[in-house]
Amino acid sequence: MSSTWHILGAGSLGSLWACRLARAGKAVRLVLRDRQRLQAYEQAGGLTLIEQEQPRHYAIPAETAQADGPIHRLLVACKAYDAAPAIAGLVPRLAEGADVLLLQNGLGSQDAVADLLPQARCVFASSTEGAFREGDWQVRFAGHGFNWLGDPRNPALPAWFDDLHEAGIPAEWTVDILTRLWRKLALNCAINPLTVLHACQNGGLLGHLAEVHGLCTELAALLRRCGQPQAAEGLEEEVQRVIVATAANYSSMYQDVHAGRRTEVHYLLGHACRVAARHGLQLPQLEHLLQRLVEHLRLRGLPCD
Ligand code: NAP
Repeated sequence: MSSTWHILGAGSLGSLWACRLARAGKAVRLVLRDRQRLQAYEQAGGLTLIEQEQPRHYAIPAETAQADGPIHRLLVACKAYDAAPAIAGLVPRLAEGADVLLLQNGLGSQDAVADLLPQARCVFASSTEGAFREGDWQVRFAGHGFNWLGDPRNPALPAWFDDLHEAGIPAEWTVDILTRLWRKLALNCAINPLTVLHACQNGGLLGHLAEVHGLCTELAALLRRCGQPQAAEGLEEEVQRVIVATAANYSSMYQDVHAGRRTEVHYLLGHACRVAARHGLQLPQLEHLLQRLVEHLRLRGLPCD
């Protein structure tokens, strides 16, 4: 079986993973959106990763989904709303028993991908690393963090896991990946939408702690109802710690809205509200928050899903 890492999406995280794997001598191939993007990439001659102000160039080969050859290991590094449509074009190339690693934030996109790929093993990841694009094919590694990986259907450690350590990608295998993803989703729901609506840095929420408290109470109830009591434990305390520790930062959702980019709300607050409804759970503050956010996005001409 080929040990090539195919990486779908050469944006911030995709490039960060691709460059570190390539640097460690792993076989890596980028799968780009279309022929135009492939041509632009070929003109640039590769990816540039900037770490501690040091740019380094990596001439990683690239192709489009229409290229030939089976894919045995795929890292999906698109935004949550792009993951399933992007994968759909690769389905015919995915080998029986392929490993598909999903880096998407929030929940919902992983199941949409897994439904398209009955022949593959889908591994979910939760990342606290930070990277952003300074330009096309040029990414800055902005924040060291950690990656938790796991497969809700199969606790066995995948054979390729050591590649991550060899590439210096900080990662741990966990059997509780859904708990990690739910906890991160809940932290996001309690902080990010409010920073958009109040137009503030995370620290600005110290002036809205009653609102944060109401959301945390409902989020904890939701987590317990959907079988994630551990993700509910000490949620409000952690939300407050994050608000203080990142007081000067603008949340990712704030930055997306500010830059006129589509948000991943459908897979974050939207997912929380949909799951609550499925369980017949009334969460008026979360629902009201979603309505306000959707209205805010609509007024700015941004997609609401
Ligand atoms: P990003 O910089 O916007 O990169 C997404 C990439 O996906 C883009 O390069 C885009 O291509 C590509 N793409 C979309 N559709 C495609 C298709 N059909 N075929 C091939 N490529 C396609 O996004 P990101 O910041 O890396 O985020 C990826 C995921 O990781 C998100 O769910 C995000 O929440 C999560 N995450 C990000 C960070 C971070 O620091 N960036 C941290 C933790 C989690 P084009 O270049 O052609 O547009």
